[in-house]
Amino acid sequence: MSDLVDPLPPGGPTSRDLPTPDRALVIVAHPDDAEFQAGATLAKWAAAGCRVTHLVLTDGSKGTWDPDQDPAALVAARHDEQRAAATVLGAEDPIFLDLIDGELVSGIVERGRVAEVIRRVRPDVVVGHDPWTRYRLHPDHHAAGRLCVEGVVAARDPGFHREQLAAGLTPHRPDALLLFEPDVANHAETVGETDHARRLGALGAFSSQIATTHLYKVESGAEPGADPAEAWHARERERLATPGRWAGCELAEPFRLIVDQL
Ligand SMILES: [Zn+2]
Repeated sequence: MSDLVDPLPPGGPTSRDLPTPDRALVIVAHPDDAEFQAGATLAKWAAAGCRVTHLVLTDGSKGTWDPDQDPAALVAARHDEQRAAATVLGAEDPIFLDLIDGELVSGIVERGRVAEVIRRVRPDVVVGHDPWTRYRLHPDHHAAGRLCVEGVVAARDPGFHREQLAAGLTPHRPDALLLFEPDVANHAETVGETDHARRLGALGAFSSQIATTHLYKVESGAEPGADPAEAWHARERERLATPGRWAGCELAEPFRLIVDQL
């Protein structure tokens, strides 16, 4: 039972499996968001030769339930974890904007910084949070979704952030925008067992988040006495198996695909 509205409409996806992009940029609020929501797809693309780059917007400094945790040490640990996870996925070294965790806003300055990265990386596909997903509580996920879609517009149109053009960058228009944790999915990326395994391996790199994100949610819904690691594996497989059934395959990740407005 999810707190969110069921994102998988009857009848299955209207499209499946984009051509493997040459370059993909995944724009996320926090370390581990990309791995949770699109990790198997990113692993699939990387294995097929795509250069995958993470843009992590916040510093992850609020990712703990320990009030005595040193924020600077946590930020450093989460950088290291994100780098390790990217390596497991086959992605490149991540880009960190290090905006303050929990205080992300989709302002003009922040939008400009996202557009600048898009204009530098020049991805064929941009992947990010759906800013319109209902009943999602975390403010950073809404703001990161807005920065993703607005950053795509700003990177594309030459009138936005002209100072970047004066500095030598040129506008860039991706072929596709894929929004994860979608309000209403219309697209599935089918993935295989190897992609699933890489996603699990990448999630395992986020050791500072095990207590809060991984095991707590398992324990809160698991049978009494169940092995937390086994329950976690079962839950994470089901996270891909449910959209897989929707898409008529074994395992898949669901997205909102936007192409017409690019
Ligand atoms: Zn997050």
